[in-house]
Amino acid sequence: MVNRLYTLEELPYDYAALAPYISETQLRLHHDKHHAAYVNGANAILERLDKARQAGTDIDMKATLKELSFQAGGHILHRLFWQNLAPADKAVKEPDGTLAEALKKEFGSFERFKKEFSQAAASTEGSGWAALVRCGLTGRLLIMQIEKHNVNVYPQLRILMVLDVWEHAYYLDYKNERPKFVDAFWNIVNWDEVNKRLEALLK
Ligand code: MN
Repeated sequence: MVNRLYTLEELPYDYAALAPYISETQLRLHHDKHHAAYVNGANAILERLDKARQAGTDIDMKATLKELSFQAGGHILHRLFWQNLAPADKAVKEPDGTLAEALKKEFGSFERFKKEFSQAAASTEGSGWAALVRCGLTGRLLIMQIEKHNVNVYPQLRILMVLDVWEHAYYLDYKNERPKFVDAFWNIVNWDEVNKRLEALLK
């Protein structure tokens, strides 16, 4: 049977696996509390919609859909984020293959890509994300600066990699110093996963 609600999946690695770049305490809190809250929040709205449909009652459609976009966006982005991170002792520092070529073609060099992505992550207003995405119309890679979990998102552009720059992602480890967290991120990127996401779009 298909579960018509979202589920909080376990991390694909141990809670301590991302240390010292993300501590076990920070990761437990982020996954078990913050991410879980989006799963529960999105499911509560889906259930509210189901009930209203069954009862034939009206709901505040504008407020409900805005909230669902935020909560479901939060869940979907966190899921992508955990999967595009790799244990610190296994992570390689640079991509290769199709992804490496695509980054070089678009940004000129891997270093230039890293710089632009880091600047996007550091300057995301308030709480949000930086994302590497691919436009299916042009075949170009773009950096998307997502505010909250759902603002500034381009319709249909496919996400290859995300970095969570909400304060809840780093405050225990880096206090208010987001750029230090962004620098640390580069040590635990799962480039194989990002490359697979790109190759899947090219098939
Ligand atoms: Mn988060």
